Amino acid sequence: MKFGTRIIHNGHEVDPSTRAVGVPIYQVSTYDQESFDRFGRYDYARSDNPTREALEKTVALLENGTRGFAFASGMAAISTTLLLFSPGDHLVVAEDVYGGTYRVLTSLFARLGIEATFVDATDLDNIRQAIRPNTRAIYLETPSNPLLKITDLAGAAGMAKERGIVTIVDNTFMTPYLQRPLELGCDIVLHSGTKFLNGHSDVICGFAVVKERELGSRIRFLQNAFGAILGPQDSWLVLRGIKTLKVRMEESQRSAGAVARWLAGQERVAEVFYPGLPGHPGFEVHHGQASGAGAVLSFKLSSVELTRRVLEEISLAAFAVSLGGVESILSYPARMSHAAMPREAREARGISDTLIRLSVGLEETEDLIEDLDRVINSP
Ligand SMILES: *Cc1c(COP(=O)(O)O)cnc(C)c1O
Repeated sequence: MKFGTRIIHNGHEVDPSTRAVGVPIYQVSTYDQESFDRFGRYDYARSDNPTREALEKTVALLENGTRGFAFASGMAAISTTLLLFSPGDHLVVAEDVYGGTYRVLTSLFARLGIEATFVDATDLDNIRQAIRPNTRAIYLETPSNPLLKITDLAGAAGMAKERGIVTIVDNTFMTPYLQRPLELGCDIVLHSGTKFLNGHSDVICGFAVVKERELGSRIRFLQNAFGAILGPQDSWLVLRGIKTLKVRMEESQRSAGAVARWLAGQERVAEVFYPGLPGHPGFEVHHGQASGAGAVLSFKLSSVELTRRVLEEISLAAFAVSLGGVESILSYPARMSHAAMPREAREARGISDTLIRLSVGLEETEDLIEDLDRVINSP
């Protein structure tokens, strides 16, 4: 079965007890046990909830993993996964990871004795040189946020495997529809399901997916022990959101390509970052590992004043944190996703004060371009 069909028919779309077409919201915290010495499949809803389980199995299946875990947020998925590591362990991390990941690594996990070295992961040599005897993981995001830089996932995973190191990939921007890191040899896929997976800007959630059983058991232990699980109402909303993942991604991606090409032709746009543009430095690598360029792009404008006008005056995109919704979203990395990063670290990574990120939603492309044209090219 092709991916688009598996989104709809995957064995987890029907309630096993009633055959209802759709998994109900099991709004419970505990389960009545049959007898003194016979406990059922479910005992307590932090451990297991059928609604969450249907969602976890669906996401695992779409990523071609064996186990999936749903968390209360993307950061909960990321932080819980990082609890795999212990004091004295070292991680090599792509330098332009999500701001919250940077923050939790440099403030919280550093305090716990888990060290991270941040490298430009567009060049595998940088990763290789940062590996130490105590390196336990390579942590990647491709395309990265907000400059859409590309890392060769199979190359990185191969290098890690030789050394017994785990490769972790935040696959939020691509979703399993466009990129499946486990198939490329990576070990753990993470998601902010808040973005494209749910897709409607109405749930905060996160996922971890693995292929290897033992790693699955360890994350399962951490999910239950740490307890940052996704509730049944939200699990249900995400199950519903995922049903349209393919059509949303296809449409937003087509539109993002058109907007990126239009932006690239404007005098007041200094630079456009989108892996769908042939001039993108990671174009070949990206299209070798993903089936599309996605729906997020970023661009630099000619002045801070114009940047302010675009953020305030565009009417068809929300000026907001986040991405991956049905509505287009403009965000300002310097003051939003990367506000937690010190200014020097930010500037050094190319996240300037004239950089805007655009997540293209489902509005008509011509309307979006007209809106951008009105503000960018106003006299
Ligand atoms: C939003 C985001 C996160 C954090 O997820 P939350 O659901 O907001 O906790 C992590 N990684 C990426 C790439 C994101 O865009």
